[in-house]
This record gives sequence, C-alpha cells and structure tokens, in this order.
Amino acid sequence: MMNETMKALVYQGPGRYELTDVPVPEIKKPTDVIAKVTLAAICTSDIHQVRGEIPAVPYPRTQGHEFCAEVVETGSAVKKLKVGDRCMVLPGTFCGQCVMCQSGRFSFCQDGGIFGSIGSNEGCHAEYIRIPQADYTMFPIPPGLTEEDVILLPDMLATAWFGITNANLQEGQSIAVIGVGPVGQCTCLLAKKAFGAKQVIAIDTLQYRLDLAQKEGNADIIINPAQDNVKQ
Ligand SMILES: [Zn+2]
Ligand SMILES: [Zn+2]
Repeated sequence: MMNETMKALVYQGPGRYELTDVPVPEIKKPTDVIAKVTLAAICTSDIHQVRGEIPAVPYPRTQGHEFCAEVVETGSAVKKLKVGDRCMVLPGTFCGQCVMCQSGRFSFCQDGGIFGSIGSNEGCHAEYIRIPQADYTMFPIPPGLTEEDVILLPDMLATAWFGITNANLQEGQSIAVIGVGPVGQCTCLLAKKAFGAKQVIAIDTLQYRLDLAQKEGNADIIINPAQDNVKQ
C-alpha cells in the first residue's frame, strides 16, 4: 500500500522552488502508468523554468523531465509494460490528435507535453510520477545496462542529434562544438562516431569537460578560450 503523499521538488512561481509533500499520483486514463522514479537529471530548461524565464509554465508544478522509472501500477489498456519493469522515459508525452500534435509541435500537445513544464504532465523530481501513453513513452532498459547508462539518451542525445542534423553535417566534414556539457559531449560523440566527422573541435572554458571529450576519443582538438591563446 502506497503512502498518500510523497516528496517532490515543486516550482511555486518565479524564483520559488521548494521540497514539499504532494499527493502520490493516480491512474487517470487506462493508458497511464504510475512509476517510481529511480534516477533523474537536471536540465538547463529546469533552471530557466525555476527562474521564471518560461512564463507559460503553470505553478505549482513538480519539476523535471529527464529520468528513469520503475513501473508500479499499469492502467487497464497498457500492453507492453508490466509492474517491475525498469524503464527509460521520453521527456514528454503527446496525443497525436490535437491541433498542436497535428502541426508537428508535439512539445505543446494540448493533452500532454513535456513532463514538469508546459502542459498537463507533472515532473519527475518526485518519488512517483504518472506517465500517460505509457506504451509509447516508456522503454524497458536492456539487460546489462544501468539507469546511468541510458538517462541521457531521450533528451541530451536526441538534442545533439537535432543539432547535428540542423547543421547538415556530412561525412568527412569538420565541426566545432561550442560548449561541451552533456549535450555538447553527445554532439562530439555522434559527430565522430555516427556521422563520420573528419575533425571535431571542442570549445569550452571548463577544462574537465574538454579533457573528457578528448579522453573518450570524441574530440580531435580542444580549445579553452580561458587558457589558450586563441589568436595564436
Ligand atoms: Zn531536458
Ligand atoms: Zn496532442
């Protein structure tokens, strides 16, 4: 028997962010899953949100959209998942039917959206979360892999992929990646190992990030404008 309340990190309005008790989510539609959050990350957009820089986000709203979770309850129409499945989870849900989905703006789905952001989904910075359209939103973690191995795939790696395809990188071309935090590291990795870039140039003012990109074999040249004489 689950408790009726749980701990959650809740956006309470611009600049106001608190750890508080909220009701444990319940199944609302037959396609929902209730899941226990097993690992969550902080995205830069969470920070923008807490600062009040995304005014369309309603509050109070539990934050967070990058996470892994274990299924604890399934709605009657859920087919691909069962209690106990450890999953990675997409950053949002979409209905595929509304005017926003039909126009390709899935993040603004009127019956879903990014978890913990605009729309109707509460976020993952909590003990439990309700996941709508769960068969299409949750993916069991392959055997032998951990939550840490997969947590960056649905948002960070996908964002890197989006950036590279927007830049129209072709095999044999060189690419400069400005900023090698999690998304930048993924960009270097994809450019080097999936898109066949000739040279990847990583640029950041944090040396440990540059060192990581180089150590992993994903950057050929590293530049730290805070230390290197870039003009030279
Ligand atoms: Zn994110
Ligand atoms: Zn929709």
